[in-house]
Amino acid sequence: MAVAERTKRTQQRKRKPKILAVINDACTGCGGSPICITECPVDLCMYEVQNPDAPFFNRVEVDPLLCIGCKKCTSKGPMDTFLEGCPWDAIDMWSLAKYETEKGELPY
Ligand code: SF4
Ligand code: SF4
Repeated sequence: MAVAERTKRTQQRKRKPKILAVINDACTGCGGSPICITECPVDLCMYEVQNPDAPFFNRVEVDPLLCIGCKKCTSKGPMDTFLEGCPWDAIDMWSLAKYETEKGELPY
């Protein structure tokens, strides 16, 4: 992913999101066909990387500067049944404050 392309998109953001998607260790990469990426409405926000714990598999990461916190990648129905998005409960929604406390301030 070109840095210039990401920077350009970041500059298009109008305001900070209240929550952000964070991929947890349950991500399987969906066998190379990540469902979450098909649900995310923001181009380039979710992307595949090599899984450092299993080099033959990919996992997904979220660009925190592009995520708008819409939860479409992880939407759940009543009783926590999965409707769309990640079927493996591999996406957590963090508050921006939690994100910046744990991972550092984001350069908006
Ligand atoms: S919360 Fe929305 S914008 Fe963020 S990664 Fe999930 S689908 Fe994409
Ligand atoms: S976050 Fe969930 S839907 Fe996305 S690749 Fe990982 S396991 Fe699949």
